[in-house]
This record gives sequence, structure tokens and C-alpha cells, in this order.
Amino acid sequence: MDIIGIDLGTTNSVATVFTQDGLKHISFDGDYLLPSVVNISDDGVVVGVKAKNMAMIAEENTSLSIKRLMGSDEKITLNSKQFTPEEISSFIIKKIKITAQEEMGIEYKRCVVTVPAYFNENQREATTKAVKLAGLEVLRVINEPTAAAISYGANRDEEILYGVYDLGGGTFDISIIENSEGLIEVLSTTGDNHLGGDDFDKKLADLIWEKSRFDIERTKKLQIKLNQLAEKTKVELSEKNLVVIDEKFFAKKDGQALHLEVKVTREEFEELIENDINKTINLLLETLEESNNDIDDLDSIILTGGSSRIPFISHQILQRTGKLPILIEDPDKSVSIGAILQGAMIEGIDTDSILVDITPYSLGISSLLDEDSRELGLSKIIFKNTPVPTTKTSRYYAVVPYQKAFMINVYQGENEDNLEENVSIGEMTLKIENPVEDAAMDVDFTLNQDGMLSVTGREIHTNMVVTGEFKTKISKSTKHSKVKEMDILTEQDGIIIDKINSILENSNILDEDKEDLKELKRKFLSASKDEKPSLEEEIIDIIFFLEDV
Ligand code: AMP
Repeated sequence: MDIIGIDLGTTNSVATVFTQDGLKHISFDGDYLLPSVVNISDDGVVVGVKAKNMAMIAEENTSLSIKRLMGSDEKITLNSKQFTPEEISSFIIKKIKITAQEEMGIEYKRCVVTVPAYFNENQREATTKAVKLAGLEVLRVINEPTAAAISYGANRDEEILYGVYDLGGGTFDISIIENSEGLIEVLSTTGDNHLGGDDFDKKLADLIWEKSRFDIERTKKLQIKLNQLAEKTKVELSEKNLVVIDEKFFAKKDGQALHLEVKVTREEFEELIENDINKTINLLLETLEESNNDIDDLDSIILTGGSSRIPFISHQILQRTGKLPILIEDPDKSVSIGAILQGAMIEGIDTDSILVDITPYSLGISSLLDEDSRELGLSKIIFKNTPVPTTKTSRYYAVVPYQKAFMINVYQGENEDNLEENVSIGEMTLKIENPVEDAAMDVDFTLNQDGMLSVTGREIHTNMVVTGEFKTKISKSTKHSKVKEMDILTEQDGIIIDKINSILENSNILDEDKEDLKELKRKFLSASKDEKPSLEEEIIDIIFFLEDV
């Protein structure tokens, strides 16, 4: 099967393929987690752990958490070139494609890619574009919690109602799912696109900084180092009650090393994230209500996503719901497992489950709030939590006799009274060549399983139809993209060697430091592929210290 299941995460991405012997996770520099980090230099594009290391010494050319910008018009400048978020994401996917091919000896052509359930049309479209730019065909785009549910529900015969609580690096999703005789039905879903482990890192970084009492400027570079340290501390706090941070050369002041020595307790960390965790549980209860169930109906709550390993989450869920949640065995892998299982189902391979997914948003067009008003509201055509694929039609009437056209402005969102609160995803015009006195238009919305929407407007007397291209905010972007010509470097030592050389040339640096660095350079040049990442980390720490912080 030439399909890859891709969980394109904010912090890390995971890819799974189907083999004769079962499922296999692709390995990137010795780990199944590929940091979703991209670095671009004159030498080329680096993705993953090497790029993450580069974030410390070449942060201006490194992109982190690009998923947060998907679907936006923002441009990212790396190494003096401008990129769209989907172009940056396409490098991550390209890295996955190349690595999978090398590891499995198969040319992968198609993929099932996952997105947060709460992603809007623009964000889904941007993700699809990123996949295409990377040279893969998109077989299906599925929601992350749905994918987690597939991986959990596959091969389960019991009839159960459960919540999938998915807290990752950048997003939170919660879905209520019913599983009966292999039919996985998503009843309701909601989430927060800007809540995840990265936010916890930032809060913890602030606390560590406060405790350090360092009286120096917190540069962007230092912030990146601090965030990485905070993430490490956070992960340790999932296992221990106390973490002692002891970093001898953390920063520099007037040429002197500043020693960072700070203690953080689990309780302190929990205090920092308590509001965020409570917010996730409120959303859980809200979406449960939307599915017309209450907490007693729920058989279990499944935790997935890397951040759900934080013990406080299980504790708070138990406190507030009386249910002890189940942490999926491999919370970082379940989404990509669900994606590949979905790919297998599409290919007709029996995986014992069928998926019924839903739309997480309502979709509609702008219309006058009422006959006497001039204000526009949202007239919903497809309602939130409707199973997909679906087609729905609504009729609209002209506001003036002999109206010459209808504007169809398509929106996604829930606020019917205030149009501005919804996301505009496209517009088109239905022109009426021979206007009639009382024109009326039927608007058809067809939403497919990938969450893509096609819209048709038809005037009922004249049969005039608008079949024009559906425009989204980002549709103009990537036709002649430069990214196609940019290869992903799998071996990339140039940047680090250049950095070492420039430090060796600096006359202000002590001879003994230079000797240490020369020794490391020698080791690095003769190191094997597996030895390089840890040596690289060591070198970067020294470079970071010797360069002006
Ligand atoms: P995901 O997007 O599902 O890969 O989740 C990534 C997030 O999970 C990152 O913010 C990680 O720091 C976080 N994470 C991974 N393992 C742990 C752990 N043991 N404790 C707390 N957070 C974790």
C-alpha cells in the first residue's frame, strides 16, 4: 500500500505505514517523533531534530509551531526568502515522504493526513495544499480525535460511548464518540485551537526566569533556550514531584557565565496550568451536552496527545466528572495510527470498523438579519455536528424587485447575529441575465468527508446557476511555488561547521574554549550518523554560550 498516515502536529509529527506484518512508525533520526521544525540556510532545508537544534543558534532562519499559522495570510521569512505556512509545512511532509521511502523501500504516493477537529476550511485547505506541494496525493483529511478514536475503537466489539480528550502541543480537541459493532460515530466535537503543551512551556519558562533572578535582557535566543528547558522540566514533572534545574552555562553577563539553579515542584506547575485544564474540562462537558448525553452515559474518557501524560489532567477530570480517564498506551502515536487505518479502510482492507465523521462548525451564507434591518447575520445551511458527507439546500429571496444578482458570501462559525464573529471562507456572485420581479435562489452546500465545501447557487425562475470557482483566502498562493525545487537535506552539517569556524576565528574567545571546540569539531566530523545528534547538541550548547547571548 503506497499510503502514509500523517499526524502533522504543532510540535511533533508522526507517520505510520501499513506493512505485511502490521503497522510501522517511520523513524526519524532514531525517534518516531519528528519535531515539526524547519530550518533554511544557503545549503538547503533541514527538518526535524537537527532543525530544532538550529533554533538555538540560527533562530531567525528556523520555523517552529507552523501549524498555528496554517490557513492565515502570514508570510514567514527564513534566510531572506518568504514562505507561506503551507510551504513550510510541505517541507515537513516532504521529509516524512523521503524518510518513509528510504526506510521501507516503497515510493509513497498518497496519504491520509489529520487536522484538529476544530480547524476551519481555510486551515484544512492549507493542510491539503501542503501535502500536495510535498508531492503526495491527499486520500482523505480526517479529524485528529476521530483518528484517535479509530485507533482506539479498531477491533473492539463492545457498544460504548466515550470522550476522546486530545491535548497536544498546540491544540486541544474533544469529541464524543459512539462505537457499536465496528461503526465509529462522532456525535459532537469542539476544542481550542490555541491551547496546548507549548502554552504550558511558556508559563513554566516565565516561572523559571522569575526564579533565576537574572538581571539580563531576555533575548529571543534566550527565550528559545528557556522554552526548551521548560519543556524538558515539564516532561520530568509528569514523573517526579520536584525537578532541580542545574545549568552551569545557561547565559552570560559581562563575559561571565550565569549559572541557572532553580527548583520547580509539580504543585507549582499545576497551579500554572490549572485554569487551562479547567477550560478543557468545561469544553468536555459542553460537547457532551451537545451530543445529548450526560456524564453518567459516558463509559469512558480516552486521553490522547502528548500533553495528556500530565498526571494533573487525569486527576482534575476524575475530580470534576467522577470518571477515571484512560490514557491511550501511545498517546503520541494514536492519531497517526488512526490515519493509516482509515487509509487501509479506504483501500478495502478489513480493519473491522467504519467511520462516520461530523462537521465541527456550522456553514452558511451572509443574509439580512430581518426584513427591516440592514445588518447582516449568518444564515446557517449545514449545522455543526452534522455527519459528513452531506448536502443541504436553503432558499433565499431577492430584497428588491428585478434584482440583477445574488452575492453568495460563505461563512463558517456559530454566531448567527454577528457576521463578523464568523470566518469568511469564500464568495461568489450569481448573475441573473433576465431579471424577474421576485427572484429567489436555492443555495446547495455539499461538504465532503475531507471537510471541503462546494457551493452552488441557482435562481429558481431562470435556472441561472453559479458554478464558478470557490475562492478561499489562500487559494492564490502556491501554483508556481519555489518549494518544489527545494530539496530536503538529510545530511546537513554545513551550518554547524560554519558556526564553529566563525567562533574559532574570533580573537576574543579564550584559547582553552577554542581547543575544546576544535576537539568536538574533530569528533563530530568523524562521528557516525547515530552519534551526531547528541554531539550536535553538545556543540550547540557551547556555541550558544560563546556567541553573544
Ligand atoms: P503532540 O502534539 O500530541 O505530539 O504533543 C506534544 C506535546 O506533548 C508537547 O507540548 C510535549 O511537550 C508534550 N508532552 C510529551 N510528553 C509529555 C509528558 N510526559 N508530560 C507532559 N507533556 C508531554
